[in-house]
Amino acid sequence: MPVFNDFFGQFGGRFVAEVLRAPLEELENAFITAMGDPNFLNELAQIQKEYIGRPTPLLPARNASKLLGGAQIYIKLEGLANTGAHKINNAVGQVLLARRMGKTRIIAETGAGQHGVATAAVCAKFGLPCRIYMGEVDIRRQRPNVFLMELYGAEVVSVKSGSQTLKDAVNEALRDWSGSFPDTHYLLGSALGPSPFPDMVREFQAVIGREVAQQTQDLNVAAMIACVGGGSNSIGFFEPFLDKPRPRLIGVEAGGRGPGHGQNAVRMSGEGRPGIVQGYKSFFLLDDDGQVMDTHSVSAGLDYAGIGPQLAALGQTGRIEFTSASDTEVLDAVKFFARHEGVVFALESAHAGAVALKLAPTLPRDQALIVNMSGRGDKDIFISAKYINPEPWFQFLKDEVQRHES
Ligand SMILES: *Cc1c(COP(=O)(O)O)cnc(C)c1O
Repeated sequence: MPVFNDFFGQFGGRFVAEVLRAPLEELENAFITAMGDPNFLNELAQIQKEYIGRPTPLLPARNASKLLGGAQIYIKLEGLANTGAHKINNAVGQVLLARRMGKTRIIAETGAGQHGVATAAVCAKFGLPCRIYMGEVDIRRQRPNVFLMELYGAEVVSVKSGSQTLKDAVNEALRDWSGSFPDTHYLLGSALGPSPFPDMVREFQAVIGREVAQQTQDLNVAAMIACVGGGSNSIGFFEPFLDKPRPRLIGVEAGGRGPGHGQNAVRMSGEGRPGIVQGYKSFFLLDDDGQVMDTHSVSAGLDYAGIGPQLAALGQTGRIEFTSASDTEVLDAVKFFARHEGVVFALESAHAGAVALKLAPTLPRDQALIVNMSGRGDKDIFISAKYINPEPWFQFLKDEVQRHES
């Protein structure tokens, strides 16, 4: 039974309006009870197997390792989970918990749309009505994911306040929840936000790390590498190893176009500083007035100014090392693993892949590097195609429009 805390060192907490204290306490109690109930854990394991497709494989990247000439690279294929990424692990866990609590309606925020898609899918599976709050700007940028959410039967609500992006969608979801919590669960998408969300999301994602611990029993693991947006895939992947001295745990942030305000999303290994935003204390990219800064990354899922509080704390103690990969290194890593291993990394996950490419040649052959491929890259075609082979792609889009209009 894991130990749950409101705080991780100086980070975390529950900095919310009075009205949200009761639903967060109710959620925390339900969560702690559920995690100690074998019936709940059995039900969770069953659905992880039947619906998500767990356990996901650990792929020995033999061609890549040979070419790089150092440590053996292994890739945890979370991209093979139903809906194409790790986010469904958390969505399934929270929907089961919500059902156990007697909630009959689910709401969620989404930025790039990946969390919205996972939530909508699980709600469809469990027959629960689902409303997803999404900024108007994000809706326009991420139309394919909006299409998927609606296909699963979710209602996507356009948020037109503020910058019309993720943080405004979170505010809108919290506003909904303040008035609806007696029958509604707020399904938050990463290992952040007010307590108990960071603990809860970590526990539901820890299935990744527990499988890896099983799958690597015979390996001499030097390091585990994961990309870090809000921090859910990384903290779940690292979870069984957090209180051990080894292996090295490496979190990779979005280096974007390079250093400079608004050019990246590097919180821990860059200009981030402590702050309290949207209910929790952590590292954020803030301007001189304490306002959340704009960020940039080629990967929508890492394009975020905050980081989960437990990761911030473990970065400060040094248990997790933080580094970054630039947009260019990420696109090169996508091409490298597609060409040599036959797997297409999501742009987010390719941040971890890019660091493995740099680290492997510096280590001996009898050591292993485990990379978490948090998602697969099919969803990124509208972004990656224009970098990798733009002309035929734009021609295809033009032809599609023409076909539609004629
Ligand atoms: C959302 C997303 C991420 C970033 O979120 P975390 O909470 O940091 O895991 C990473 N990879 C993929 C594929 C995603 O969809």
